[in-house]
Amino acid sequence: MSKNLIIAIDGPAGSGKSTSAKLVAQKLNFLYIDTGAMYRAITYLALKTGCLYDRNKVIEIAEHSDLTLKFENGITHVFVNGEEITENIRSVEVNQNVSDISKIEEVRTSLVKKQHQMGRTSSGVVMEGRDIGTVVFPNADVKIFLTACIDERAERRAKEYSEIGAHIPIEEIKKNLLSRDKIDSSRQVSPLKKAADAVVVDTSKVSIDEQVKLILDIVKTKMQNN
Ligand code: C5P
Repeated sequence: MSKNLIIAIDGPAGSGKSTSAKLVAQKLNFLYIDTGAMYRAITYLALKTGCLYDRNKVIEIAEHSDLTLKFENGITHVFVNGEEITENIRSVEVNQNVSDISKIEEVRTSLVKKQHQMGRTSSGVVMEGRDIGTVVFPNADVKIFLTACIDERAERRAKEYSEIGAHIPIEEIKKNLLSRDKIDSSRQVSPLKKAADAVVVDTSKVSIDEQVKLILDIVKTKMQNN
């Protein structure tokens, strides 16, 4: 395969992006980048410093924090200014506020700049998010858009929560997913949407192994046709 291959995987929360993107990256020996973790990190810092509603301060955090992602043993470890915040960024509070922080144009500009640097320095990358195929890497070699029905997405999130000992009612999870979908898809800057040339994969009734196989087949076909 050619150098600097970029695979963009976009889709709503719970569509299977993280799980399949990680496995695809491992199979291809590519770098895996979870861009959602970056928006979550800024949201966590805004909450921690009490400036969630102070737009200028939030922008300052995004521009000046030293944000690093390290993918090890299936986990994206997130560090900010040397401090590990991997677990903190998955809290209910972060879930509730991340989509509002992600609407801020300057926050996006600053994180997209970091994403460009990360994508360019690697021999191959699988980057997942909401705007990777549309805005971050509009010329990505392969673009996948994952979808799944809301019941399935909520079930997956509930399972993930219960694995870390958090028991959140399914209706509450559904409400958060739908609210994030709405804000993410309707925002002015880089909304969640399928790139015109992305391949749609509906994961509602598909196992993880099948998802990974489907994506690898799409990558293979694309590369053969190039
Ligand atoms: O992927 P994850 O669900 O962790 O993303 C959390 C939130 O970060 C999304 O709901 C969205 O608001 C924001 N996000 C974004 N653009 C990306 C990745 C995530 O706006 N590329």
